[in-house]
Amino acid sequence: MPEISHRLQQVCSEISLYEQEFDRPAGSVQLLAVSKTRPYTDLLQAWENGQTCFAENYIQEALEKINKLRSLPIQWHFIGPIQSNKTRAIAENFDWVHSIDRLKIAQRLNDQRPPDKPPLQVLIQVNSSEENSKSGCRFAELKPLALAISTLPRLQLRGLMTLPAACDDFEQQRKPLRKLRLALRELNQSDFRLDTLSMGMSNDMRAAIAEGATIVRIGTALFGERKTTAVD
Ligand SMILES: *Cc1c(COP(=O)(O)O)cnc(C)c1O
Repeated sequence: MPEISHRLQQVCSEISLYEQEFDRPAGSVQLLAVSKTRPYTDLLQAWENGQTCFAENYIQEALEKINKLRSLPIQWHFIGPIQSNKTRAIAENFDWVHSIDRLKIAQRLNDQRPPDKPPLQVLIQVNSSEENSKSGCRFAELKPLALAISTLPRLQLRGLMTLPAACDDFEQQRKPLRKLRLALRELNQSDFRLDTLSMGMSNDMRAAIAEGATIVRIGTALFGERKTTAVD
């Protein structure tokens, strides 16, 4: 367990190091702790060491942890694939959603966001590796989807997210991440005001920071290897 506090310090200092290396302002990259498959006690440990944002992929598992940790002002991010029948639970329990890739899901989240909560902060997930098997909208579909989402009053579109195919080479890792950065810039050149690039995981965090990530989603480097795979 003390390992989590040690790993958290380690990851935070790597983030500062890479911010300096790539001329990013100090503090411009936010660490999002990906806690899927981890017991709530791991999240508590990270919280006690200063981590305030957590991301979950599976709604059932997430609701149990959100409930157990209800007394803490944690910011919850949903990053998993979204089926229509899960949108209500997401709209009611999360602060951010990174994995919107079609309008129907955005509309349901908008309609189901409780009126007493602030607008849901959302990102469009883009398929930057252009593989059919990966989820995310294609670059060609991005602008129309962004335009449609920006008319939904209960959602606030903040930017883009991607989950590229895994690879170990730094320069290869940068390619899809660069495409996401350029796509965000293009949207901002046509009147959007987007400030968030959610990209970078344990094995490509440095490449992501080099390419302008503002949120890195880190699981393994914080909590260790995942032993189990949770399902909804
Ligand atoms: C699991 C997951 C991560 C974290 O990956 P690690 O390699 O464990 O850091 C990030 N983003 C998404 C969408 C994930 O599903």
